[in-house]
Amino acid sequence: MAKNVLVLADVRNGKLRNVTFEMLAAANQIADGGQVAAVLLGSGVEGLAEGLGDAGADTVYVVDAPELEKYTPSAYRKAFLEAHNDFGSDVLLLAHSAVGKDLAPVVAMRLSAGQVSDIVGFDMEGGDIVFTRPIYAGKAFTKVKVTDGIVIATVRPNNLPAPESGFGKSGTVKKLAVSFEQADLTTVVKEIIKKTTTGVDLTEAKIIVSGGRGVKSADGFQPLRELADVLGAAVGASRGACDAGYCDYSMQIGQTGKVVTPDLYIACGISGAIQHLAGMSNSKVIVAINKDPEAPIFQVADYGIVGDLFEVVPMLTEEFKKVLA
Ligand code: FAD
Repeated sequence: MAKNVLVLADVRNGKLRNVTFEMLAAANQIADGGQVAAVLLGSGVEGLAEGLGDAGADTVYVVDAPELEKYTPSAYRKAFLEAHNDFGSDVLLLAHSAVGKDLAPVVAMRLSAGQVSDIVGFDMEGGDIVFTRPIYAGKAFTKVKVTDGIVIATVRPNNLPAPESGFGKSGTVKKLAVSFEQADLTTVVKEIIKKTTTGVDLTEAKIIVSGGRGVKSADGFQPLRELADVLGAAVGASRGACDAGYCDYSMQIGQTGKVVTPDLYIACGISGAIQHLAGMSNSKVIVAINKDPEAPIFQVADYGIVGDLFEVVPMLTEEFKKVLA
């Protein structure tokens, strides 16, 4: 059954995040002959519309307004709903990112829609979308479908397949002039303080080098950063390392940190507590470096290196330098 699928483009620091392309590819599968539209919200974002047709959007809605420069739920809700009303969407997809997680329930409430959060896959069954989402901190998966009305889903980055080739759609740009009232601007963001220093976004990284309490100090992260630089990887951490003050909490991976699904996860000096595994056990390949052969991390690792991380990590860096030179 044909459906109109609206995708909120996920923009960070003036760039489209990869999850946008993953959502557009999914939208084309779900649409089944219906229309697919992308929505760009922000200030100075119009230029990002180029290429969204090839990524699978028949229409690209653009709401470019100073009021949308920084994310606020009320202003973004208004702009997103105007695009939805114009398009007549049956399904709305948002990234399971800071913005998407906040905005999806606000929009779902306004539309009396059924929301499914943090989806990692889906199947089409007789016109219904059956979503797969993790439960019990990633220990199991459940299948969920919305049986009636509008469907809203947030999509975990790095899980749905990215399109292999362009869709060659028109990507017709439709600018919407939204007038914001005082009631739409009840939240004012005064300042955004960035805490991460690495260039690579953890939730979208293809490779992550992660450090635990075994790094022993803030300086102990330096060999991990050097390895990450060579691999083009992001640097993450366990809560043990964050609690010890070795790094910022923005780097924490796990149940109460970020959930990541890179192609390669290198855990250095991390014991493998269940709360840490909740955030990384779906990584495609896991390498663990730990001096304790009994460390639980080895139970989920595809490759295990029993040794001192301060010897092993620099050796890996040197070897990768030779291979990747
Ligand atoms: P440790 O358990 O102390 O392990 C350090 C490891 O380093 C050991 O295995 C040791 O053998 C190894 N090591 C030491 N020196 C070296 C060396 N030189 N070379 C190689 N290996 C070495 N944790 C998270 O990570 N993320 C979360 O989101 C999270 N959420 C939590 C939520 C709740 C409600 C609770 C109760 C806990 C949560 N935790 C979380 C904490 C979790 O239970 C663990 O305490 C934490 O993950 C341990 O961190 P760690 O592995 O770095 O430290």
